[in-house]
Amino acid sequence: MLTRIFALYDTDERYGEPISQEAHALQSAALAETDGAPPPLIVAALLHDIGHMLCRLPPDRTVRGVDSRHELIGAKWLARFFPPAVTEPIRLHVAAKRYLCAREPDYAAALSAASTRSLALQGAAMTAAEAAAFADTPCAADALRLRRWDEAAKDPDATPPGFTRYYPIAHALMRR
Ligand code: FE
Repeated sequence: MLTRIFALYDTDERYGEPISQEAHALQSAALAETDGAPPPLIVAALLHDIGHMLCRLPPDRTVRGVDSRHELIGAKWLARFFPPAVTEPIRLHVAAKRYLCAREPDYAAALSAASTRSLALQGAAMTAAEAAAFADTPCAADALRLRRWDEAAKDPDATPPGFTRYYPIAHALMRR
């Protein structure tokens, strides 16, 4: 099954960024690993955008004003295979962006063009009350860490390890 999950990334889809989804996933996981993240969070970083691969809307969907809710699609689908320590940061990674935009002006200013475009469709920056509630959510801290790797994982020149590196840790986390 894991091989089939990883194979979903065998596409050139880019969702408006300068790199493929596969490169983005692998860079995210490599940043998580370098940052000392625990195995479930490394796997979350690797698979955080899998909802994009599952719903397959046209690549320019944010230009057309459609939000696929890829974080919910991905987390729900992955919950069949992985525990909440993997799926919850994925489910919350868009909320984490809205939180960071509310709390850190520098973060919002540094978002990529595609990420800024999708933010408007995802509900814009959180209100102060929403941000306070988010901060109290279990896994919020993990989702925020994931979000920062997500933003950083858009380097066209990076050469991260491939999927095979993550097979053992993902396999060890899978439900039996
Ligand atoms: Fe991402």
